[in-house]
Amino acid sequence: MSGKLVVISGPSGAGKTSVCRALKLLPGVEFSVSATTRVPRAGEEGGVDYHFLSRDEFERRAAKGEFLEWASYNGNLYGTPRWPMDTAIAAGRTFLLEIEVAGTKQLREQRVPGIYVFIAPPSIDELRQRLVRRGTNTTDDIESRVRIAREEIAASQQLVGGEPLYDHAIPNFDLAATITRVAELIGVRR
Ligand code: 5GP
Repeated sequence: MSGKLVVISGPSGAGKTSVCRALKLLPGVEFSVSATTRVPRAGEEGGVDYHFLSRDEFERRAAKGEFLEWASYNGNLYGTPRWPMDTAIAAGRTFLLEIEVAGTKQLREQRVPGIYVFIAPPSIDELRQRLVRRGTNTTDDIESRVRIAREEIAASQQLVGGEPLYDHAIPNFDLAATITRVAELIGVRR
């Protein structure tokens, strides 16, 4: 039995991490641990939240082709290690990637089969308020993430090879309802 890949994207603060955290608890679902050059936030653990790498180490691994996709976001590099996905899918599991839009485009260009979901914020104002409430980002970082969010929302609507980048775009007005909707879309039971 072969599993499936699920790609979840969306601007920082749109709620995608909360959606993924809930999906991760469902049976048969496994979560990709990305590599990043970003410094860990308070409470983040290496090997659990991310593999935290130096830029040199990241670039060395990227050059060796160890990442399925990788992209630069807000001054840092982020990439998906290849082999955990292959292992999970071969074992019949649902494998979740939480990645930004440029990385998603690389997967589409490689024709990686999967269900591609974009979680959108209800509005840009609401997104900014969520980032402020979260309290883990500086003011400059928040404004930078808001600017990137506008670009990501526009970019999420592009076509890749004549096909939409995302199969589904879901505005996250209510977290519980969004989780239910995504669980239905990807065919896992809650
Ligand atoms: P954060 O710094 O908030 O943890 O993540 C910043 C952005 O990078 C988020 O949009 C997140 O989904 C994205 N991201 C995390 N891991 C990866 C990855 O492996 N590849 C790509 N392309 N984006 C990632």
